[in-house]
Amino acid sequence: MMQMPRRDLSRSNAQFRRAVQRLPLGVSSTFRYWGEDRTIYLAEGKGGRIRDIDGNHYVDYRLGYGPAILGYADNRVDAAARRGMEVGGVFALSTERELAVADRIAKMVPSAELVRFSNSGTEAVMGALRLARAYTGRESYLLVEGGYHGLFDAAMWQADVEGWDAGSNADPEVVPYGKGIPPTVRKLAHLVPMNDMQRLEDTFRRHGDQLAAMLIEPIQGNCCAISARAEYVQLARKLCDQYGVLLIIDEVKTGFRVAKGGVQSLLGVRPDISTFAKAMGNGYPIAVITGRADVMRCFRCGGASHGGTYTAHSVSLAAAEACLRILDETPALATLADYGARLKTGVSSILDARGIVHSYTGHDSMFGLFFAAEPPDNYRAWKTSDYSFYDQMAYFLHDLGVICEPDSREPWFMCEAHGLDPACLTDTLKAVETAVDLTLE
Ligand code: PLP
Repeated sequence: MMQMPRRDLSRSNAQFRRAVQRLPLGVSSTFRYWGEDRTIYLAEGKGGRIRDIDGNHYVDYRLGYGPAILGYADNRVDAAARRGMEVGGVFALSTERELAVADRIAKMVPSAELVRFSNSGTEAVMGALRLARAYTGRESYLLVEGGYHGLFDAAMWQADVEGWDAGSNADPEVVPYGKGIPPTVRKLAHLVPMNDMQRLEDTFRRHGDQLAAMLIEPIQGNCCAISARAEYVQLARKLCDQYGVLLIIDEVKTGFRVAKGGVQSLLGVRPDISTFAKAMGNGYPIAVITGRADVMRCFRCGGASHGGTYTAHSVSLAAAEACLRILDETPALATLADYGARLKTGVSSILDARGIVHSYTGHDSMFGLFFAAEPPDNYRAWKTSDYSFYDQMAYFLHDLGVICEPDSREPWFMCEAHGLDPACLTDTLKAVETAVDLTLE
């Protein structure tokens, strides 16, 4: 019998009891609530590691759900952000740096003919959908099951809610993510299963001429990093062209992470619109809507409305300028992907030595670990799989100083700092070995 790892969370527990009096669930995002005894409050993050208020240190593979691509408190980006602070913050007018950052994005992402800044992934996708509706004059849109596109009503349709008949895999029902999403907007959303070519064709045949857009996440960052197959996205491109539908590739999580030009550059598909956020600012809040010039020009007076008090804020913009320069001009992306590959090799040798069948989804820079020979290729394959081993292992990993998502929904995210800190790999693998053995007991 192995010794159960012990982690002192007494200060976090006390903080939770105080916080819950003032903050719903004691947190500022519902997903940060991990139960009364396991909700963690952080003191700081540096590189690929974080420290909680009890003094526990962790190697972190959540990285704020992806943004900290270089690592926390990166000196190069933070120095630029400080210079951005001196510019003045928010003006309700434009600055020169907007064009410099937009030029960098256009250089890195071939489909980004024009660029409009936003503050968050949610805002960017919301703007992208409005743009598609303005351009096409249509209201309905198509989502891929398992995708996540932010918190706005139009994006929050799923099949995952208890008490709803979610239909079959071949014909998923559109149901809201949770309460407060008006069922009246439901009739505008259509849902297709990921990677099912036949169903995609059928859906376009039935609804294609009413669709403004098809929205797809090329690697589903809230669904075990399930990847869209190239031929699926290529078919989507073809059908969109055939039916006059705009293809929106949501690269909020994958963009400036998986490849300089996004997953779209690896799939060989040019979207009409794409959205980027997270990694572009190394954690500073910034996002963009990009795409075809004729479509983007619908953002105009009397056209599709878009703005925002904080868009192109001088701090975030300066941070993005520095971060994108590093991602474009240095081997940072190769460093973190190489780290991810080495981590996977190390984890596999631990699992293989114990005869544990497993596979990976996603990309070396953001991967899902799955305990079956074949990884899932759509939402329901994941949902109906047995992920109890993963969940139990993740629970132990937290106690052993490695933070990953507590369930298999989110991938493990890599940052450049992981790759530059040789102890990250050894610390992680030591913890994985112990967590696996504890899980097997
Ligand atoms: N789109 C995708 C693909 C995402 O993964 C997310 C967030 O995780 C969003 C949109 C929403 O972004 P934000 O949380 O910045 O609003």
